[in-house]
Amino acid sequence: MKKSIASVLLYAVMAALAFSAPAPARGTPAKTDYQATRQYYDSLIAGPSPNLAALTLLMTMMPKGGDLHHHYAGAIYVETFLDWIKQKAYCIYRADNSELKAIRFRVETKPGGLSPAARALCLDVDQVRDPSDEVFYRELLSRWSDKDYKNHFHQQVAPDQHFFDTFGYFGSFSDDDYNQGLRQLKVRAVAENVQYIETMLRSAPAPDNPALSRAVNDLPADASPARIEAALAPLYEFLTRDEATAKGVADYLGSVDAGDFRMRFQAYVVRSEQPAKVFAGLYSAFAAVNARRRVVAVNIVGPEDGIVSMRDYSLHMRMFAFLKHKHPDVRLSLHAGELTLGMVPPEGLQSHIREAVEVAGADRIGHGADIVYERDAVGLLRTMRERGVAVEINLTSNAFILGVKNEAHPVQVYRQQGVPFVISTDDPGVSRNNLSAEYVLYTSRYKPSYDGLKETVFNSIRYSFLSEAEKAAELKVLTQRFTAFEARGRELAAGASTRQK
Ligand SMILES: [Zn+2]
Repeated sequence: MKKSIASVLLYAVMAALAFSAPAPARGTPAKTDYQATRQYYDSLIAGPSPNLAALTLLMTMMPKGGDLHHHYAGAIYVETFLDWIKQKAYCIYRADNSELKAIRFRVETKPGGLSPAARALCLDVDQVRDPSDEVFYRELLSRWSDKDYKNHFHQQVAPDQHFFDTFGYFGSFSDDDYNQGLRQLKVRAVAENVQYIETMLRSAPAPDNPALSRAVNDLPADASPARIEAALAPLYEFLTRDEATAKGVADYLGSVDAGDFRMRFQAYVVRSEQPAKVFAGLYSAFAAVNARRRVVAVNIVGPEDGIVSMRDYSLHMRMFAFLKHKHPDVRLSLHAGELTLGMVPPEGLQSHIREAVEVAGADRIGHGADIVYERDAVGLLRTMRERGVAVEINLTSNAFILGVKNEAHPVQVYRQQGVPFVISTDDPGVSRNNLSAEYVLYTSRYKPSYDGLKETVFNSIRYSFLSEAEKAAELKVLTQRFTAFEARGRELAAGASTRQK
């Protein structure tokens, strides 16, 4: 008996020696995996020039929980779109020609119907990818995404315009095959240790009723809440009874039922549409969430500084309030405050986030970039903290579209004021980025403590729109992944300190 205890002890000591990092100095207790990883992380972000290469390695390895602000079409890389165009035998115009209705870089989805002259202007993907002439291919990459934008080699439009224009190139076919796209996003997510994506897959169907729509479309900008309610109510009643609407929602749900990956969807409307269309789309989006399948929330998207977006912003928030009153359980994540000084007059920066939170009842805010310009921003920040309204921070996107970056980014204010936030990608295909790189930006610029960083990662599950049981399961997985990550982090740190000469 004694002998076997001794041998067990001996084995334990040998095992501990075999698996431990280099022996600590005499008298200091061995560091845990967590402590070693934390210390290594601190060393990488220290000083005025953080070790970006090693930080990229660490952030790629690190479990990142979920990506909660993610547009499906904007997440697909151009190279993948070209694969799809080839599969479908579509072609891409190589030059402008108004007579032949050819627009350079536009996709033709019906090449069979083209005249010989138009067909000659339209390149097959193999021609686009001809290695002996990469000029057109490289320019296409830069038109369909933000690639090389800063090098200014193509004709410049404003960055926000360029960004939103990219969707015009792939919008006609990006919805063709969700399963293929979602499979690829899943593979990419797994490769960078992401376990969950909540994506804005496609806009909700918006059935029309011209007679009832007119009352909504004709609402003046300063309409009272009572008048707005009076215009919306008959259209709402119509939509609840309309069979075509019910079928549209059922078809929509069928199209977004994807595989077994932990992926959930947000239905959305586009804020630049006519008011009645926005409302009908919101109705369908709420109905899709109420079906309690994979569509978990409603969003509103599109450039927020557009003429219609600015004019109808308050009306849109009233529409959300109207529907939220009837369906209080439907969760909302709203793009709000994706603006900055100079894009619109200062008055346009004073109330969007507040209206999203207080009128619409948003559970999460997308971007929230103009918070520092809001009226009574301190009071609003307090409300968001107390209600647990999390902000989805998209650093690359904000830098490109708004020019808001580095010390000017309000993520620091949210952090100081205790408002929960998550790090997300927005449109990683257009930005040619990934979630790990967003974390590299976040950690190198703002230097959160390791514990604070972990808190932010855990927020991406806590503030997701999964059910409580699903969240508990995902949080458990995330905790296990961090245990494994920190063991590897300790090895990495030990190797780095031994080899550094
Ligand atoms: Zn977005």
